[in-house]
Amino acid sequence: MTTIDDTINQWLRDAHAMEEQAEQMLESQSSRIENYPELAARIKRHLEETQSQLERLERCLERRGAATSAMKDLTAKASAMMQGLSSMMAGDEVMKGALASYAFEQFEIASYRILITAAETAGDIETARLCEEICREEEAMAADLADMIPELTRSYLTRENADLDEAKR
Ligand code: MG
Ligand code: FE
Repeated sequence: MTTIDDTINQWLRDAHAMEEQAEQMLESQSSRIENYPELAARIKRHLEETQSQLERLERCLERRGAATSAMKDLTAKASAMMQGLSSMMAGDEVMKGALASYAFEQFEIASYRILITAAETAGDIETARLCEEICREEEAMAADLADMIPELTRSYLTRENADLDEAKR
């Protein structure tokens, strides 16, 4: 096996670890946004996509003859920033969650763009095609989040003000 194939296998494992972190993030978020049904529905849909992405990456690694057993040992290393944001205890965790989700989608998009070029360079057209397919799902999620953020922000501010008015009485 050539060095470039080893590199691609490592990046595919990194992508798998990234998707495991995405799955955790989306699960924890979907449980605290019942006040925002549109966003909750989109997050639930992307959670299902993410679980399918994990399976597709596993099949891809198997096809390439790369071990998948070592993946369980990997800690998701996508970013300390996400952990910092998600551990925040402030009342605005819905907004922090939207911020972290949007940033995470961009991180995923960049990861798959790198993988697409690497797979093309190595002549693994199937891996390149899979990564393009996943990348389009991430781009769609990022675009939908971008569309929802203004309404989410207004809705959050209205809710926050209503809570404050309530507290003053
Ligand atoms: Mg993903
Ligand atoms: Fe995603």
